[in-house]
Order: sequence, then C-alpha cells, then structure tokens
Amino acid sequence: MDAIEAELTRLTSKSNLSKALTNIDGCLELLQAARNQIAEDPDSAAKTLAMLQQTMNSQLEKVGSDHKDVYTGLNKFGKALDKKFKSASAYHSPRHDNIANKQPELHRAVAMHLMREGHFSVASHLLDEATGAGHPIAVPPSLEEDFRTLYSILDSLSGHDLNPAIEWAHSRAHDLEHRGSNLEFELCRLKFITLFLDALETGPEEAMQFARTEFHRFQQRHFRDCLQLFLAFTYRAGIAGMMTGKNQPKDVVNPAPYPYYNLFQNVEERWENIGKMFTSEYCGLLGLSAESPLFLAVTAGSVALPVLEKLRRITEDKGTEWTSHGELPVEIPLPSPRYHFHSIFVCPVSKGQTTEDNPPMILPCGHVIAKESLDQLAKGNSANAHLKCPYCPKECTLGSAMQVII
Ligand SMILES: [Zn+2]
Repeated sequence: MDAIEAELTRLTSKSNLSKALTNIDGCLELLQAARNQIAEDPDSAAKTLAMLQQTMNSQLEKVGSDHKDVYTGLNKFGKALDKKFKSASAYHSPRHDNIANKQPELHRAVAMHLMREGHFSVASHLLDEATGAGHPIAVPPSLEEDFRTLYSILDSLSGHDLNPAIEWAHSRAHDLEHRGSNLEFELCRLKFITLFLDALETGPEEAMQFARTEFHRFQQRHFRDCLQLFLAFTYRAGIAGMMTGKNQPKDVVNPAPYPYYNLFQNVEERWENIGKMFTSEYCGLLGLSAESPLFLAVTAGSVALPVLEKLRRITEDKGTEWTSHGELPVEIPLPSPRYHFHSIFVCPVSKGQTTEDNPPMILPCGHVIAKESLDQLAKGNSANAHLKCPYCPKECTLGSAMQVII
C-alpha cells in the first residue's frame, strides 16, 4: 500500500493542473490585451495579431507540458494500482459471479449505503445518472430526508443535547412501544441523570420538574427505575459529595455507600451507547437494519475471500463441483457476532423448521414462533383475534405479530 500512497501523494501535489490553470490565465490575459490594443488602434490590428500569434504559441506549449505531467502521474498511479491488486483480480471468476445479473440490486445497495452514511450529494448524483441512463434506482423517495433527520439528531447527541432525540422519540412513542423498544425511556433517563448531576451544586428544581413532566409516560414498563431515580433526591448531598470528590467513600470495599449512587456512574458510556441505540431504533422504524448491509457483506466477503478462493482451486483441481445450493462445504469463522446471521429458525412450539410459506413471527413480547403455530394459538383469524404467548405468557393480538426476515 505504501507504493500506492506515495504515487497518490505525487499525483495530488505535482500533477494537479495548478500550473496549467496559471498558464491558461496567462493566455486569457494575452488575448484580452490584444483585444484592447486593437479596439484602441484598429490600424495596428495586423501587427498586434502577428505578435499575439508568437507569444500565444509559447504560452500554449507550456499548457501542453503541464498536461504531460498529469498524464505521467496518472499513468504511474494506475501501474501502482495494477501491481498491488494483480493477485486480487485472479479471484474474479465469472462462473462464481452470483451478482453478474443483479446490477439493479447492486446499484440500490450502493445508493442506500451512501445515504445511510450521510453522503447525500454523491447518492443523488448516482440516482440522477442511473435515471439518465434509463435504469432508475428504486430508493424510497423520503429516505434522504429520513437520514438527514437522523444525522441532525445524532449531531445534537454528540454535542450532549438530548432534546431533539427526546422530541422525536415522543412523536414515535407508539411505534417504539410496538417494537418493544426502551429508547424513549433511556433518553429521558440520561436527560434526568445529566440534569441531576448538573444541579448538584445549584439545586434540584430542573431535574425534579423534568421527572414530574416525563416519568409518568413510563409508569407501566419502568416504574421501578423511575422510582429509584426519584428517590435519589433524598441522598443528593451525599451523592454530590462523592461525585465532586469532596466526600470520597472511606470504605473502598463497598464503593456505593449511598443508595442510588450507582445510577449516576458511567455517564460517558451511557452517552456513547445512546447514539448507537438511537441509530438502531431509528433504522428499525424505517424497516432497515442498524448497520449498512453493503458494509457488512463487503467486510465479511473480504474475510472469507481467501478461503473461498482456496476452495475453488481445490474443487477445480479435483474436477469436482460443490452442488449444495446456498451452503458451503467448510465453515468460515468471521471475527465478530456482527457478522453472524442465523438463516434457519426452528419453531419452539411445532419443533418444525420455518419456511417461506410458514415464516417466523415475532410477538410484541419478543418471543418468536412459526406462523402456523401463531394461527393455531389465536382465537379466530381476524387481526384482532387474541392469543397468549406460549412462553411469557403475555396477551396480544394476531395483527400485532410481525414477520421476522432471516
Ligand atoms: Zn412472550
């Protein structure tokens, strides 16, 4: 990679047409001067033009040699790239190219990736060019606006401003609740913790007011957590002392001599996690995964490529072929659980593997069973038909179960 970087530096510093721009400006000045001269004294036109021809020729020669530098730079950079990636191109085999006929899907994945990474202008260029070429990319029209909103909220979060995120969570409270998400509560809890800590020296009014106006929303699901946060006011002075270091606990064996002190620790970690949680829930409501599928696929693919290539060589040498569809003869370990997906689901009720016609369905409580088992458990077949989860056993309706795509 060093050779490529060196060539790239040379290309950007030397072969960047900056000299050519100055020389072209010189050409323009010569033309302008000649024009003014002829306008002032039309009789001198022949002489002025003859002189212009001479000076212009030498100026244009300079521009030509500037171009040469650029071509040489590009050429060398191209060669460095070819040299480095020669071995990689050997991996390409048209026989194993499963995406050769899937250009629209590939373009869509690239456009979606660019949008979710916040590269809106590049994405819109891609969409425009694809439409211009007669192959429009099917991306939901509101997606750019959705991701712009996400990035503006994440920006506020990174500046430790929770208000836009809380406002958004309130507006989508019903949908978040339906997903079984704790996002709204976690945002409010962090806001309360921040207010509580900020107010340790000034006074508890703002934190108290926030708790009064917000915590009633969480009475059902987070009553205990809210109660603990509220009761922490009782030990405010003690917690403040520990936080500011004025009253360090003498008993190191017991690091939390004041009840509820633990609730106010690891605040930095909470800030880090809240951004990830927000992105994940926001994308979830858009029907998208928390991470870019293109990024995951390319990363997992790069890790797996050497093994796949070895496999291809062995099967070719032996003249055999692996025919099992969608399955590999070897296991390829991937570095983190982020890359682990379970493509098979066995219904815990019927003990049968789910299929396209009988897909796994998730209940609002988070338990997953096969669609046929769900239909059997429901009393009736309308969306309002009630059923009890066979595991927890929370009540829900048939319509509140969602299909799980694996
Ligand atoms: Zn359940």
